[in-house]
Order: sequence, then C-alpha cells, then structure tokens
Amino acid sequence: MKRSKIVMAVIVGLFCFASGAKAWDLVGHKLVTELALKGLPDDFPAWVKDDARVTRLLYLAPEPDRWRGQGAAVLNHINSPDHYMDLEDLDVFGLTVETLPRFRNEFIELLATFRAQHPDIAPYDPTRDAAHVYSTPGLIPYAIIERYWKLASSWSTLRTLQEYSDVVSEADIESARNNVIQEMGLLSHFVGDAHQPLHMSKHHHGWRGENPEGYTTGYGIHDYVDGTALVANKINSKTLADKVRPAANMDETDPWPQILKFMARTESRVEPLYKLEKLGKLEAKSGHDFFERCVLEGGSNLAGLWLAAYKISKIDDYMSTALEALRAINQPVEEEVPAK
Ligand SMILES: [Zn+2]
Ligand SMILES: [Zn+2]
Repeated sequence: MKRSKIVMAVIVGLFCFASGAKAWDLVGHKLVTELALKGLPDDFPAWVKDDARVTRLLYLAPEPDRWRGQGAAVLNHINSPDHYMDLEDLDVFGLTVETLPRFRNEFIELLATFRAQHPDIAPYDPTRDAAHVYSTPGLIPYAIIERYWKLASSWSTLRTLQEYSDVVSEADIESARNNVIQEMGLLSHFVGDAHQPLHMSKHHHGWRGENPEGYTTGYGIHDYVDGTALVANKINSKTLADKVRPAANMDETDPWPQILKFMARTESRVEPLYKLEKLGKLEAKSGHDFFERCVLEGGSNLAGLWLAAYKISKIDDYMSTALEALRAINQPVEEEVPAK
C-alpha cells in the first residue's frame, strides 16, 4: 500500500516536473561555465579561451533548455528527462544511484521489465503523457556520460585533422574546433543541472509525500532556486573570483562513478535547502554559502570532465587511414627516368 502511494507520488511528481523546469536559468548555466573555464589548468589548449569562443560557450550553456520552447512532443520526449533524476524514486525499482545500469537503453528496459512484473507497483499511463517522458525518474547521468564521450570524440577529430593539416583545409580544422566548443557548451548544461539540488530529487517543486518537518510544498521554490537565488545572493563570476576551484580530478577512461557521486552529493543538499527555506535563510549568509558551494562544485566537476575528455582523445584510426590515402594521392609522381 505504501509502495503504491510512493509510485503515485512519482507519477504526479514527474508530471509537475516536466512542465517548466529550467535549472539555474541562463545565469546559473553561464556561471558554472565561467567557473569551469577558470578552473582549467594552464596547459589546456588556449584557443578555447579566446573571446569569441567564450562568447559561444556561454551562449550554448543554456541551449538544451531552449529545445523545450518548440513544444514538440518528439523533441520533449528525448530531451526533457535528460535534465534531472528523482533519485529517491530509484528505490521503487530496487535501484540506488550507485547501482544504475551503465547504458541508457538498459535502464529504460529494466524499468519496463519491472513494470511488467509488478503492474500494481509502478503503473504508467502514456495516455496522460503527451511526450511519453514520465516512464522514467529522469535520465541525466546518461546525458552527461554520452555528452562526455561526444566531446572526447570531437577532440579526437580535431587532433586527427591537425595531424594531417597538409591534406585537409583550414576550414575543416576550424569546423572541428567549433564542434569541440559545441560539445563543451552542451556538456556544461547537464553538469550544471546535476548541481541544482531540486533536479536530483522528487521534491523538485515543493516537498512531496510525508512531511513531518513541515517543509514548503509550494511550487515556487524551484523557480526561485533556478532563477532568483544566485542573483539575490549576488553570486557571480566577480564575487567568486578568489574562490574558483581547480578542475576536479576525473578518471578520463571512465568518469561514470564520479558522475554518480556528484549527483548523490547534490541530492544530499535537498533537505538542507528546504530547511533554509523554512528558516527564511535563503538569502542569509548560510543560504548564500549554500548556493555558492553548489556552483563552485559544478564548475570544478565540469572543468574536470572537460579536461578528462581532452586527455582521453586520440588520433582516430579510421579517419587516419582515409587521410593517409589522400596524402599518398597528393604525393608528386616521380617521373620515370628513361633508360640509357
Ligand atoms: Zn530547474
Ligand atoms: Zn536543464
């Protein structure tokens, strides 16, 4: 009985979530990106910090939220769940953040299998869900790890084209640089979301279910944290200039466990956030310091993933073979010396 109540809360909660959640709005996503840029080590490719590249990166950081504006069910279906995961609800499916399957499709299949075996525990009604997004508690770790490898791939393409600069055009190399910036910007969005406590919890738009502490159930707390908290607390790249943390040390071969760890850490901040709200301290020193920690950690973890993706990139063998062939064709043909 208790379980089915939980599940209903999951369904209702998810329903609320997808309607307007934006996470950190423009200000927060840009700030996490700025902090990450400052956290990169000096030997990271310097061209990334050119003014025009930074302008583009900051523009891209909120881009996945803009995809919601189209209101297209097919796009919302694939995009919306990438911005959050209600970690408490994994329990319904016998999972924890540490035991999440590696692959997106395996996770989705696992939930579907569970539903088929326990129709009473995890009901899902797609007829009430135009974009068919509420069948999972969110998919953000998959968005992050997939973006991570896309970024590594973009670096590999750039490295490979630069290695063959005698046979490829500068325009191709410039396109490859642009793709690196594109992937860095999109990765920034999802890492930023993973540091917004209300994106890691079923209590995303007010406290849901049992509430012995009497935390707010108001929907507005989400928009406050997304959009107002940083501005109201005067938290920006200038006020944080002396507090920037260096790139977190990520395992470039497999940052998955570290991604799950920072998600769990963000979730551990959910109840403290509601406590601050209850005490009216969201804009007191304790509230200020709370939000500061969220964005500083977000910046450091993002820089860590950016750096790791760069480190794991390599010369692409498949491209290399084709470029070698091109190089061979371009070699001047030696004239045959007539026999004496
Ligand atoms: Zn949000
Ligand atoms: Zn988002």
